[in-house]
Order: sequence, then C-alpha cells, then structure tokens
Amino acid sequence: MKEEKKELLEVHYGKEQLYNWHCGPYWSKFLAEIRDNEKIYGIKCPKCGRVYMPPRSVCGRCFTEMNEWVELGNEGVIDGFTVVKFPYINPSTGEMKNIPFTSVWIRLDGADTCLIHYLDEKDEEKIEVGMRVKAVFREDKKGDLYYDIKHFKIADRFKYD
Ligand SMILES: [Zn+2]
Repeated sequence: MKEEKKELLEVHYGKEQLYNWHCGPYWSKFLAEIRDNEKIYGIKCPKCGRVYMPPRSVCGRCFTEMNEWVELGNEGVIDGFTVVKFPYINPSTGEMKNIPFTSVWIRLDGADTCLIHYLDEKDEEKIEVGMRVKAVFREDKKGDLYYDIKHFKIADRFKYD
C-alpha cells in the first residue's frame, strides 16, 4: 500500500496581548506619591531600622512586617552604573531602547537599598560611583516609575567632596 504524503500547513497570526497587574498596596502608594506629589518614599523596618526603597512589605533581613513610611529626598548617590551600547529590548515595553543608555544603581538619601533607573549622561568617562544625582520628573505623570521619573541627572556636588 502506497503511503500518501500529507501536507502540513502552518497558519501564522499575530495577537497582541495587553495586560495589567495590580501593584499591591506598597507599590501603589510608592507610585502614587511620585505621580501626585513628586515625592519618593521608602519603608523602614521597625526591628533593624533598614530603609527599603523601593518599598516592600517584609524586611529581607529579619522577616518583620514594615509599615513606617519614610519620605526620602529626590537626590542620592550612584552605587554602580552600566553604559549599554548594544541593541536591547526593553522587557517592560517590548520595544528597542535607543542606545547608548546608562543604567544606574542609585541609593537615595535616607535609603539603605538601591533603585535601578536611568541616567541622562551616556559618556562613561563623565560618570563615577559616589557621584550625586537628582531625579528629573515629567510634567505629565501616569503612575509609572520609569516614565514619571524621566531619568536621573548628575547633580553639581559630590558625596565625597
Ligand atoms: Zn529588618
């Protein structure tokens, strides 16, 4: 019996999947304060005193629930940075980022943890760990950390001067 060759078809289609997720009470307050008041808050552990920013519900060191909000400044210091010069897809948007861009670890004044954000300076020769930076907010904010804070910029003075 002769076996008949079967044709296998492929059907291509694209489907956009838009979705939202609930940030939870801690991130909702954190993002709303940035959006509505241009204020950045951290949260303090009542047991060890560590201030987390961005906030979280439980201290990672002593597993204590945290509820004491602490207003931080809009300035801090660079703890580390990377100037990215290769093509990169933003995982939050799925779009290509314009290169080069600078990703920075920022320890805001009064915080014990770092926020990862962007710096407007793209020349690595002009960036140093320990430099002071300041948040630059957009006029039209919408509750998105990486939109409402457009980027950080190098402030005039240095931490170790
Ligand atoms: Zn703690």
